[in-house]
Amino acid sequence: MATYQNTTQITVRWRNSGEERSVSVDSLYRKSLEFLELYANADLTSEKFLALIGEGGARQRFARLIEACGYEDDPAGFFGALLPELAAGKSGPKRINGIILPYRYLMALLELLIPQKGFVSIGDVDQLVAKTNLMVPEAARTELQKVIETYPVRLSYHTIRQMLLSPDVAYQYMPFVEELDPVGHTNTWIGQFHQGLLEQMYQNRVIFLLNMSCPVYCRFCFRKHKESRNEKNPTVEDVNRAIAHVEKSPSIKEIVLTGGDPFLNRSNMAAAIDGLMGIDHVQSLRLATRSLAYYPELFLGKGEWYLNYLKQKNLELQLHGKRMEIATHFIHPDEVSPESLGIITELVKSGIAVYVQTPFLQHCNDTGPELQKLFRLLRGAGAEMHYIYIPCSPIHGNSVYWSPLSDGIDIAEYLRAHLSDRSVPKICTATPIGKMEWYTSGWAVEQVEGQENFIWIRTPYTPDYFKSFAPMASKLPNIRVNEEGTLDIQYMAKIGKASYFLGSRPLRIKKTTLPLSIPDKLQLPAASALLGSQQIVKGGSAALSRVHETRVELQSDVTEADIDYIRSDTLISDVIIRTSSLLAEELHEISSLIGKIGTIDHVNAVRISLPEVNYAPESISPAMIQHLASCNRLTVSNPLRLEIETWFINANQITEMHSALVRRLNNKGITVYANTPLLGEINDNPDEIYNLTYAYRRAGIEFHHLYVAGHPIQKAWNEKHPIDMYDVVDIASKIRREGSGREGPRYILQTPLGDVYYGLTSSFIHGGGDIRVKLDSYDLPYFKALDSSYTLPKDVFIDDGKPVIPMPGLVSSTNFPV
Ligand code: SF4
Repeated sequence: MATYQNTTQITVRWRNSGEERSVSVDSLYRKSLEFLELYANADLTSEKFLALIGEGGARQRFARLIEACGYEDDPAGFFGALLPELAAGKSGPKRINGIILPYRYLMALLELLIPQKGFVSIGDVDQLVAKTNLMVPEAARTELQKVIETYPVRLSYHTIRQMLLSPDVAYQYMPFVEELDPVGHTNTWIGQFHQGLLEQMYQNRVIFLLNMSCPVYCRFCFRKHKESRNEKNPTVEDVNRAIAHVEKSPSIKEIVLTGGDPFLNRSNMAAAIDGLMGIDHVQSLRLATRSLAYYPELFLGKGEWYLNYLKQKNLELQLHGKRMEIATHFIHPDEVSPESLGIITELVKSGIAVYVQTPFLQHCNDTGPELQKLFRLLRGAGAEMHYIYIPCSPIHGNSVYWSPLSDGIDIAEYLRAHLSDRSVPKICTATPIGKMEWYTSGWAVEQVEGQENFIWIRTPYTPDYFKSFAPMASKLPNIRVNEEGTLDIQYMAKIGKASYFLGSRPLRIKKTTLPLSIPDKLQLPAASALLGSQQIVKGGSAALSRVHETRVELQSDVTEADIDYIRSDTLISDVIIRTSSLLAEELHEISSLIGKIGTIDHVNAVRISLPEVNYAPESISPAMIQHLASCNRLTVSNPLRLEIETWFINANQITEMHSALVRRLNNKGITVYANTPLLGEINDNPDEIYNLTYAYRRAGIEFHHLYVAGHPIQKAWNEKHPIDMYDVVDIASKIRREGSGREGPRYILQTPLGDVYYGLTSSFIHGGGDIRVKLDSYDLPYFKALDSSYTLPKDVFIDDGKPVIPMPGLVSSTNFPV
């Protein structure tokens, strides 16, 4: 086929800034082919777009695209029609001949029209229009100028390109006049220990503020005031003083290196990593940056300098027995670029975990499908989804982003039903005295009397907790000690639904049972194969169980019909392979099965449940790990992420051998996660689970599910040794209070209709000595959509459209709702 050549320049004039820009048809054509070849898949474009361009190479697909747009064999005509659309300066989707062009494709073309790199501070409205090419209404100019002077504006060229196409990105970074609304706090931080660049809010970890500015300023930032933006940066001497403080404080195990963006200050970053590396009691460094989303060039520029630096430092930290993690924020799927996915995959493949936190912003990411898309994209690249923060910071100028707490809580119902269980973050509120997770370590108690904008939130923290490092924190006027002895704090938010106020938990007379030893039958390797979920609808052969809309569990001896079943249902994203055999015995079957699954684009994760990881870690050799790594496809386009599932009951079972194995797997980009059942009188107390949580984190294992009740192993044991709901809240409170914040599990109830999050996507019906649970994520149409012949099990009834089911093995010593 002849090479297409057309050196004609197309010149466009940006409507709002008046600037002119020329670009050749050739370069637009080549960029189009590159995009279609590398990124034309359902996740990065859409099913509809894929149907339009059909199969084949980039040239054929481009030809079909421009033909559908009315420009058959006429690339110059196509680009000549498209470029004025891009230059129109109105954020939103772009259409040619009614065809909506994919957002990420247009982003690629905009890189030719706006090729600048770096970031720019905006001083006035004229400059804002000149740089962004977006429209500012004449009537808003004066007020907008005040906003820019009060809350500084800074944008990267990456975000400028994104904002031209995505209103949801523009909503996060373009200043707006409602920021002048005076409602809200000046800052959201109170009572913590401060010393130079070091702040301490929790006993076991501190944050270092290494750099006070960011390359882009989010409008919803809790540091949005000019005074915060203009703070002087700390020096290397300040960093060394903070390191000396950590050295003298053996209770500090984790350090969060943050700012602003700490990566903007290389000397402080290097001083902090190198200095903390030598302190024995420091276990983890967490490096916080949002640049993966809004300024990926920071990691990719200068020959990927920062990426290479992080890989090198991670290896050095590992040699000192420490781990590195990257904490980042993504809010909307439109922020996810091939560049950001590429950075995540590179980090994860090098053994650096990347975890994602997501502020919940009204009118931006407050619907289930948006978040579902966001988390699916990030999970495929290897990221861990950690928290959704509800609501966004109650700070001045942020009120447009606030939504009632009930909106954020309810979003979990959708995500639990329609997203892989490994991709759903926990729902968290960051109160001024520390974070709480909804319905396990905290809840809304009641309205603050006479103050319609404030509610009381129960937290897991106690007055004693702060004594050693921030004694002022428990003496603040807006907190109170509740009946059970933890602190409630006044928090600025609307509850949304009054029924979400749960009141105070009564004090329980302390239970004093000691842990029993683990019965032999529960230590049997075969039991681990039971740590799966129950089939909810029929599908495939006996070797395939449909356990969720997004998930099937397989034995390694599945049939071709089973593979066809997975292929035919685009909702399935996760396949779990369960085996009770040794890896050496089934490596061939497992890798051939992964090979077949790898041809199904909508599946982006394969999870192998391997009992051997628990009871014979030494038998998994480096060669076997290398082989597994070859099945792990952490890529930007059509990824197939490989994870290993394991389980432990208590901390004593986790040895150095397990840590060494997990480190080797992690360094190949293979995540290891664990599920644990709560067993009455064995591990159902805060200390046992706290120790297990700590041991998991030390070993590099993600603690995924803590099964509270309903699991087959629990049914056999907990009927005689039931779990008290009071203990569940006590366990979660201790882990949130005393753990690292990163290590807590999701608290799960397993039922024949699917798993639900304890209290968050379920509600409890007390009475008659039994606990029944209402499954808030599911309804009959959900199951009928998976299997039209579906009927509810006999002991299930429907209340208000939701199934209610008995929860054996769970009791409550009070009538408190959770
Ligand atoms: S990245 Fe974080 S600190 Fe920086 S502006 Fe955004 S919210 Fe604020």
